[in-house]
Amino acid sequence: MNKKTFPKGVHPPDKKELSKEFKIEFFPPGKTVVIPLHQHTGAPAEPLVKKKDRVLKGQKIGEAKGFISANIHSPVSGTVKSVEPHVTPLGKNVLSVIIENDGEDELFPEIKPLKDDPFSYSPEEVRNAVREAGIVGLGGAAFPTSVKLSPPKEYPVDTVILNGAECEPYLTTDYRLMLEKTDEIIAGAEILKETVGASKIYIGVEDNKEDVINLYEEKLKGRSDFEVAPLKTKYPQGGEKMLIKAILGREVPTGGLPFHVGVLVQNVGTTYAVYETLKTGMPLIERVLTVTGEGVKEPKNLQVRVGTMFKDIIEYAGGYVGKPGKLIMGGPMMGISQWTDVVPVLKATSGILVIPEEELPKKKEYNCIGCNSCVEHCPMNLVPTRIVVLSKNERFEDAKSWGLMDCIECGTCSYVCPANIPLVHWIRFGKSGYIKLRKKSEK
Ligand code: SF4
Ligand code: SF4
Repeated sequence: MNKKTFPKGVHPPDKKELSKEFKIEFFPPGKTVVIPLHQHTGAPAEPLVKKKDRVLKGQKIGEAKGFISANIHSPVSGTVKSVEPHVTPLGKNVLSVIIENDGEDELFPEIKPLKDDPFSYSPEEVRNAVREAGIVGLGGAAFPTSVKLSPPKEYPVDTVILNGAECEPYLTTDYRLMLEKTDEIIAGAEILKETVGASKIYIGVEDNKEDVINLYEEKLKGRSDFEVAPLKTKYPQGGEKMLIKAILGREVPTGGLPFHVGVLVQNVGTTYAVYETLKTGMPLIERVLTVTGEGVKEPKNLQVRVGTMFKDIIEYAGGYVGKPGKLIMGGPMMGISQWTDVVPVLKATSGILVIPEEELPKKKEYNCIGCNSCVEHCPMNLVPTRIVVLSKNERFEDAKSWGLMDCIECGTCSYVCPANIPLVHWIRFGKSGYIKLRKKSEK
């Protein structure tokens, strides 16, 4: 097997054995669901419903505002209890539609596919259907998919890369999807290829998922337009720039996007969601996620409606083991720590991870010892320690000139730092400082 990879990176323990054997189970939504109107990159959606309105499953309840935004739909039938701010796993209070679920799952009558055959959509019809369905990147970034499917005409896309790396430790969402929804993912990839006018598809899969690699090699036997690209298991192999470098040897330029080098990268879960929407007409109201970690009794892979509370999912997974030390949305490297489990699943919630208190390393922070380890491992070839010093001193323009905005926030530098300096925290601080500075100067 010819395994591809990118320079640098790290090898954290993958811990996928906790959940990888468990098939995807359907988890029914609770009595109340909380649907934030801003759970994607770009502008928040505007509410289309008010208190006491009756809503049906699949009904649009939030309208995308602007090109980079996403529609929001009701995941259940029931009555709107309120439209008010609610805390989300992204750490902010966000205007949300709170719905009392009637348990009937009564479908909105307009939910039906535009066409009987998902392969008969024109590229424009695919983009419109994906936009209408509120599909966003399900790998974590939640970038509106219809925007990704509309690259500028001067940058023709020749290759689609399906991201099946799932390099974050613990998570097995994409692994299970690739095993259980193989034909749908292959069909979705073909539709994406036609939509952007590409001629070749790769599915990139790390070699810790050998069964997936073998399955797709068998399914795609004899095809020259669709290949499996086995990847070395290394973090952050699933970063878009790392995947493109590993599979095609192309370098996305500083500040650039994959289309600048003729590539569309889509997560396998997003690809599945696109296919399902074209086939059934159902918007994005549910997703698959992994609930896992040494801090939950029975790790699982679950199909969950958006708006379901973390607390209910953890209870379904047997509850906490001991005292929870850290609750994270996503994986341990790029995930977001939570201070409460009373937060809803978002479209981009790929996992709920619980680390018990006794397993948390007691990390005292020291001064930088100049060991260079962060530089040696940074997959973006940055000098994290330098960027952090400049960010801490609020020298945001200088930090930018050292590549601040090129950082993909993969967490590799923090992971390897022997002085336990929270480098990514300071880089995020630097990025938000730089953005504020730019906005101020544009006024
Ligand atoms: S500086 Fe950014 S890209 Fe480099 S290792 Fe740190 S988080 Fe990752
Ligand atoms: S890894 Fe930590 S201690 Fe070493 S140079 Fe980077 S910031 Fe300093």
